[in-house]
Amino acid sequence: MNKRGYITIAVIVLAAAAAVAYFGFLRPAAGDKPAVSAKGKVIVALDAGHGGTDPGATSGDYNEKVVNLAVVKKVQALLANDKQISVLLTRSTDLLVPLEERIRIAQDGGASVYVSVHVDSYATAEVSGVGTWVDLTRKESESDATYQLARRLVDATVTATGARNRGIQKQDSYLQRTTMPAVTLEVGFITNPTERALLFDPTYQDKLAAGIVAGIRDFLAWREAFQSASSAAASTSTTKTTTTPTTTKPATKP
Ligand SMILES: [Zn+2]
Repeated sequence: MNKRGYITIAVIVLAAAAAVAYFGFLRPAAGDKPAVSAKGKVIVALDAGHGGTDPGATSGDYNEKVVNLAVVKKVQALLANDKQISVLLTRSTDLLVPLEERIRIAQDGGASVYVSVHVDSYATAEVSGVGTWVDLTRKESESDATYQLARRLVDATVTATGARNRGIQKQDSYLQRTTMPAVTLEVGFITNPTERALLFDPTYQDKLAAGIVAGIRDFLAWREAFQSASSAAASTSTTKTTTTPTTTKPATKP
């Protein structure tokens, strides 16, 4: 083989080695769960409560599961071409999905926000309004993402619909199986005749969906600001420690 032949072989070997290095080692592992999609979007899991053999709350022939799915699909439609948010549904048909499976779908899909949509019921007809449930293991504080998500969701949904604001309540919930901010949003009462008529009205469902989108956007803006403030505070305190190691002054809270 002449000199040119050796050079050709060397080039081929180097190119092959580079290809192996890129495709074999440099790709992210399949198990990595990014908080954003490949296109850099935040992935929001939308969970339509109940489904299939589980109707949820009922009143006569009216089933909660129908409203939950309709509202979730309207939220999905509103965010279909969104530049910031990508939506993932835990169910898109009238199907009963086990609770732990809903969490798994959200986590495996790379979601970093979880919103479960439900309709409430009560023993007496006069009770109405929109409220949220937060798992009781979450710490109630200004820096807790779940509480921030809950407040922004309920406030935005009430603003969009004019419904009564029932605020945030705590309960023992399957949502403690995930660490991502996760909230159950109860969009109204099926046992209140006036609110029930609204819940099954597509125009009112549009308002609910718009409110949920606004709440999610408010929450993401808060999280972005909170995270950049936290990382700025962390880098400031690192610098202080390095330059004046004897100082006892605590780092400023974000
Ligand atoms: Zn429910």
